[in-house]
Amino acid sequence: MEFITGFTPELTVKSPGRINLIGEHTDYNLGYVLPTAIENQITFKLRKNGSVNKCNLYSLTYNTGFTLDLNKISRSEIEWENYILGVLNEISKLTDGVKGFDCTLESNLPTGSGLSSSAALECGLAFGLNELFGLGLSKMDMVKLSQIAEHTYVGTQCGIMDQFASVMSKEGHVILLDCKSLEYDYVPIDIRPYRIILLNTKVSHNLASSEYNTRKQECQEGVDIIKQKHPEISSLRDVTLDMLMPFKAEMSQTVFNRCSFIIEENERVLAMTEALKSDRLKEAGDLLYEAHGGISKLYEVSCPESDFLVDFSKGYDTVLGARQTGGGFGGCTLNLVHEAGIDEFVTAATKAYKNAFAIDLEAFEVRPSGGTSVVV
Ligand code: ADP
Ligand code: MG
Repeated sequence: MEFITGFTPELTVKSPGRINLIGEHTDYNLGYVLPTAIENQITFKLRKNGSVNKCNLYSLTYNTGFTLDLNKISRSEIEWENYILGVLNEISKLTDGVKGFDCTLESNLPTGSGLSSSAALECGLAFGLNELFGLGLSKMDMVKLSQIAEHTYVGTQCGIMDQFASVMSKEGHVILLDCKSLEYDYVPIDIRPYRIILLNTKVSHNLASSEYNTRKQECQEGVDIIKQKHPEISSLRDVTLDMLMPFKAEMSQTVFNRCSFIIEENERVLAMTEALKSDRLKEAGDLLYEAHGGISKLYEVSCPESDFLVDFSKGYDTVLGARQTGGGFGGCTLNLVHEAGIDEFVTAATKAYKNAFAIDLEAFEVRPSGGTSVVV
C-alpha cells in the first residue's frame, strides 16, 4: 500500500490524547470530569483522491492499511479499522458530503495507556473530514458522533469525556465538564513549581473493555434500586451518600461500593476545581490519593502495577499526590511532582518498578494543551 503513504497532503490535522485530572468513570454516570488534552497526539494527513467511494487509510504506527468503499461500510474483524469505519458510518447519517479520500496517520501517543488514543483517532478523522469536505459539522457533532462510533463499532460503552477533551481542550486549562447538561468551564491550571508527570505502567490488562461495560451495568443496577424510592433520579449524579445509605441492605456489596465511589468521585471533582482555583495544591494532591483509593478498593479498576506506583510515590515529599488515570487496569499513573524532585523520583520509581515487575517504566511530563486542530 505504499502508494498512499507518500502523498502530498491537502490537509494535516493533529488530534491529541488526554489526561483526566480527576473524575474517573463519572462521565457515563452523567457526573463531572476534569480532563485536558496533552501534547501527545495523532497526526492525520489527508487528501481527496477524486473517486466517489474509495478511501485508503494507512496507520504508519502499525504499518498497515486498508481500503474501503463508502457505500459498503460494515464492522471489521480488525480492531483499529472499526474506529475509522464507525466514524464514517456515523458521519454518513448526518451528511453525504464525504467522497473518496486518502489518509495516513502517525502517532506519538501510547495506545491502551489510559490517554485515549481511541478518541484521538475518532475525533481527528471526523475533524479532518469536516475540514477536507466542508461538511459543516459542529465540534459537538464531532464529539458525539465519535462517542457513538466507539459504542457501535468498537463495543466500548464509553462516556463522552474522552472525545470532548480531545476536541474542546484549551491550552493551560482543564475542562470542568458536566456530563449531564454538557455545560463546561475552562479552569486555569497553574501548579508551578509542581508538574504533571505520567508514569506508564506499560500494562494494559485485557479486562478493560468488558469490565468497563460491567461497571456501567452495576451502576445502573444501583440507580434502579434507588429509583424505587426516589423516582426523580435518573443517574448516580443525582444521588448523595445520605440518599444511598438506606439502600445498603438491598444492594450487593459490589453495587453499593460502585455507587459510593461514583458519588464521592463527583464530589472530589468539584473539590479539586475549588482547590485549583485557590492554589490549594496540597489539597489537590490529597484528592488524587483519595481518588486512587476508591479506584482500587471500591470501583476495582486498578491493578497491582498501578497500585504499586501510587504507593511508591507516597514515600516522596516532592510528590503531592498520584492516581491511575483513564478507564483502568493499567495505563498511566498521574503524579503531581515538584520540579526539583522529578529526576530523583522518576529514577527511584523506575528502579523499584523494574525490580517488582521486570518492566521498564516510561516517564514523561504532560502539559494541558489545545484540542484537535489543523496544522498550518
Ligand atoms: P486508549 O484509548 O486508552 O489508548 P483504547 O483501547 O481505548 O486505549 O484504544 C486503543 C486502540 O485505538 C488501539 O488498540 C487501536 O485499535 C486504536 N489506535 C490508537 N492509535 C492508533 C494508531 N496510531 N493507529 C491505528 N490504530 C490506533
Ligand atoms: Mg480509549
